[in-house]
Amino acid sequence: MKSAVWFFLAWAAAGLAPAAAEVTSLHHDMRVRLDPAGRDLAVSDRLRLRGGGQVIFRLAPRFVVTAFAVDGRKAEPARLGADWRIDLGADGEHDLFFEYLGRLAAMPKEPPRDSRSFEALAGPQGSYLPAASGWYPDTQTVTFTYRVAVEVPEPQKAVVAGRLVNETSTAGRYRAVFESESPATGLTLMAGPYVVRERRSDGLLLRAYFHPGIQSLAADYLQSTAEYIGFYRRWIGAYPYSAFHIVSSPLPVGLGFPGLTYMGEKVLGLPFIRFTSLGHEILHNWWGNGVRVDYAAGNWSEGLTTFMADYTFSQKTSAQKARRTRLNWLRDFAALPAERDRPVTAFVSKSHDAAQVIGYNKTAFFFHMLRRQLGAETFDAGIRRLWKENRFSTAGWNRLQDAFEAASGKDLAAFFDQWLKRTGAAKLQLGAVAVERLKGRFRTSLTLAQPLSVYALNVPIVITTASGEKRFHVRFDRPESRYRLETESRPLALAVDPDFDIFRRLDRAEAPPILRDVTLKADTVTIVLAADERGQRAGRGLAKRLLDLPPRFEDAFLFRPPPAPLLLIGTTAEVMAWLAKARLSGAPERLDGRGTARVWAGRHGGRWPLLVVAADDVPAIEALLRPLPHYGRKGYLVFEGDKAVEHGTWPATAGPLRVELE
Ligand SMILES: [Zn+2]
Repeated sequence: MKSAVWFFLAWAAAGLAPAAAEVTSLHHDMRVRLDPAGRDLAVSDRLRLRGGGQVIFRLAPRFVVTAFAVDGRKAEPARLGADWRIDLGADGEHDLFFEYLGRLAAMPKEPPRDSRSFEALAGPQGSYLPAASGWYPDTQTVTFTYRVAVEVPEPQKAVVAGRLVNETSTAGRYRAVFESESPATGLTLMAGPYVVRERRSDGLLLRAYFHPGIQSLAADYLQSTAEYIGFYRRWIGAYPYSAFHIVSSPLPVGLGFPGLTYMGEKVLGLPFIRFTSLGHEILHNWWGNGVRVDYAAGNWSEGLTTFMADYTFSQKTSAQKARRTRLNWLRDFAALPAERDRPVTAFVSKSHDAAQVIGYNKTAFFFHMLRRQLGAETFDAGIRRLWKENRFSTAGWNRLQDAFEAASGKDLAAFFDQWLKRTGAAKLQLGAVAVERLKGRFRTSLTLAQPLSVYALNVPIVITTASGEKRFHVRFDRPESRYRLETESRPLALAVDPDFDIFRRLDRAEAPPILRDVTLKADTVTIVLAADERGQRAGRGLAKRLLDLPPRFEDAFLFRPPPAPLLLIGTTAEVMAWLAKARLSGAPERLDGRGTARVWAGRHGGRWPLLVVAADDVPAIEALLRPLPHYGRKGYLVFEGDKAVEHGTWPATAGPLRVELE
């Protein structure tokens, strides 16, 4: 405590000192020796920089500095914890030299629950030295360039982002030299017992650094990589680096770096990753790494990447699948309680599920609406412009608005503001619909209302007639408007936004219950129904994993459902007895008696969301700990041990935005 306060004061004082100066350019020339088995790291780093006066470099306190010099002279910097205060003297070019060594933390055998490690980890199965761990001296105030020569004992291989300048294997040592290709905000080093496979594609070096157990997958991954890069190069503009590497990790991660992705070995082994996450990570070379995010203004890159990767892949499969994706996004938003809703511009990173519902889903939906508004060609021109004008620099949402305004010649301020700066979603109501016959044609009149806040919308309306469907788009930017639509044939039905093209609040009929209705709520009550201590522990552990916020437990002797979202977890006999006493229905018919555990979402008391987990015994509850939290969007599941053998959503009905006409 004391040292923390002292540390803070010293840091603040240094920051306020009149001599404090800024480093304006920085280049690292590093030699790195890593022994993964012994976890020893030895580095010498020559830094060339522009600046003057007192500057602060951070280096993790676990390292012992064995040599230090400023402009070739041995020097004594003031060290406080991770901070090195260095007097550079007069403004201009300077040269710093650090030589240091230290022992890294061990790569855990069991992957940690929270995989966002900020510590440098080493071990024979893999080493991961993230930029945030402070494994090299950095000012953290300026982007930098680098040349890194790294050496590891074979069969280990080491890799950092950047151009591979050369590599050698001699006398049992692997050495490689990398150079940065764009200004870097951080430098991450990875190593492991990799089998390296490569191919050249359009002048690019594509490599898979895979663990031996998954090396047979490398060729397919490299083939898909070449295809994705070609696809995005045509859509956006030239790929910005000389290489792309897929590096496998003992940690369950999926991280993007310039020209490189670091993904869990087990993740890479999943059959669908090549068709989903790989494309997403490759696209981050344009959005996130190529154009960096101005986090102070909100993170647009995850939403744009989700739209141009995940959503685009579903669209390539079928229009039906794309529609289902949009419905899922709206379904997620419907599960988000109002007090946890945030504007898109407030999203920074996926710290929990609620943030994902906004930062990934709502943002991706925004781009879907923007493309509908501008037309695909103009939208694509905006995308190319965004890339061309912001490559290798930092951009906030205003740069995106600039690019799409320039491409379309339209003022998009109102459109960006209503979707990005406000919380919530549009709410549509369909009022009286009437049909009249006019000189052999039919006129359908309808009233639309926005009972909550008013958005400027372009609303699709579909009239089904005796001779097929007729599509209309109406401009709707008031609390209430009346429209008249004409058709040749007799109208049979009318539907407002039947394909979910508007980010709107679903009606309850359109949004059957899903797990997230309970797991995202802040006031969910959890009741664990298990006779013994181990069952109680398993149930409580599962509740903690499932809920987005810390659980609130209630006594099992409470036989009346509380007026709140309710999570029931327990063994089947106890759960069924409780449901019967509380006068709630038992397991839905299609789940009854199947698998080792059944999970379903429903409602109680007419309005409160309910989630029931009924497992045959305590091991069957424990088996759900890892898999179940990944199925938040489902309505029901059947598990056989830790495998979901069946899952789905309850059928939705059309809701009040569709009417049958006489
Ligand atoms: Zn991403």
